[in-house]
Amino acid sequence: MKNKAVTDQIIKEIDGCLRRLFPICRSITGNGNRETLRALQEIIPLKILEYPSGRHVYDWVIPREWNIRDAWIKNTRGEKIVDFQKSNLHVVSYSSPVYQKLSFEELKGRLYYREDLPAAIPYRTSYYKEDWGFCLSYEDYQKYFNENGEYEVFIDSEFSDGSLTVGELLIPGKSAREYLISTYFCHPSLANDNLSGVVLTAFLARELLKQKNNFSYRIVFIPETIGAIAYCAENEDIMKSIDCGFVVTCVGGPGKFGYKQSLDPGHYINKAVESAFREVGEDFICYPFDIHGSDERQYSSPGFRINTASICRDKYYEYDYYHTSLDNLAFVSERHIDSTLSIYSRAVEILEQNVFYERTNPFCEVMLSKHDLYPKTGGGLLPNAGGLGSLDNILWFLFLCDGKTSLSEIACKMNVEMETLVPLTDLFVEKGIIRQA
Ligand code: ZN
Repeated sequence: MKNKAVTDQIIKEIDGCLRRLFPICRSITGNGNRETLRALQEIIPLKILEYPSGRHVYDWVIPREWNIRDAWIKNTRGEKIVDFQKSNLHVVSYSSPVYQKLSFEELKGRLYYREDLPAAIPYRTSYYKEDWGFCLSYEDYQKYFNENGEYEVFIDSEFSDGSLTVGELLIPGKSAREYLISTYFCHPSLANDNLSGVVLTAFLARELLKQKNNFSYRIVFIPETIGAIAYCAENEDIMKSIDCGFVVTCVGGPGKFGYKQSLDPGHYINKAVESAFREVGEDFICYPFDIHGSDERQYSSPGFRINTASICRDKYYEYDYYHTSLDNLAFVSERHIDSTLSIYSRAVEILEQNVFYERTNPFCEVMLSKHDLYPKTGGGLLPNAGGLGSLDNILWFLFLCDGKTSLSEIACKMNVEMETLVPLTDLFVEKGIIRQA
């Protein structure tokens, strides 16, 4: 448990990071992505990788790099009625360059707004179809546009044979066995989805760097979908060997906690998350695995089958402001991010306990009475005899403890919680009966 001064300091740092990164215009490629990763390098030693445009990655091709300097729509009086400098959401991401005069009739199909959320600028993209468009609030649409209007539109964007940028941090532990922690950073000024996830991942990584870990961690910051696909293609063998991890997204809203299960609901990553929630005393909504969602779609595909869970606070699709300008720093708070960070940290601690033990002598049964482990008539010798310390549990644990079955798998087979096995393993280690494999 962190003390209050430490927590306050982290909350302050999270706030600073949110404010610094929020205004940057990000997309699936471009300089905004590099700027974001460079800022994160002040928190963690991220390696920045570049995958060139045009490279084939499985069924996909890395697109040309997109950068934008400015964009606006002017009315006949020359007034800017839509201005990219005021919000980077005003331009459909990956819009091609344009400079022309258009009638309302010609322009209207390229204007995106939400009648049901009149104050919000929606977030739209056109990554794989060359197109352009503007997004604006329905209020502005009604105020500034009319059927007889003439408009001057300008998008100063550029496509180039550049690259797709990825951030990677490998944290080696005692075991080479890796957990994956992945987040996506391709959204422009949107706070919960997914700047909150980017910031949380950086601070979680910093915690992991400060401690000695049993396992290794592969932490990646990627543009959603194409970035995950490219990263998998570039690291296929390693990714195939990863059993589980997290996709960190939407962690800072004011709503209820939730978590999206990994593809196998009985997998220990899900048990770890549920235990973490229980221990922290937070209620949560459980979203079963679904093929819609984030980069678990790639990581869980048949070639990889990595079980990735997501712990959220206002999960994507579930909140009204999703993919609009109202998903901003008034909606997300540094305190909410910190609260989700505590659950992630606890879940990681539980994963850290998921070690492999082996018997120091695997042959035949251990002579329990010699080690003071055999319950005597009238009561067991362990503090919780009859429960976990019962003869059955001792015998089952020592039977299953073969160096190849992890603690969580043993817990699953014994139908007990993993963290309740930990005192038993500590005792067996102390008595020299088992050791870490
Ligand atoms: Zn999104």
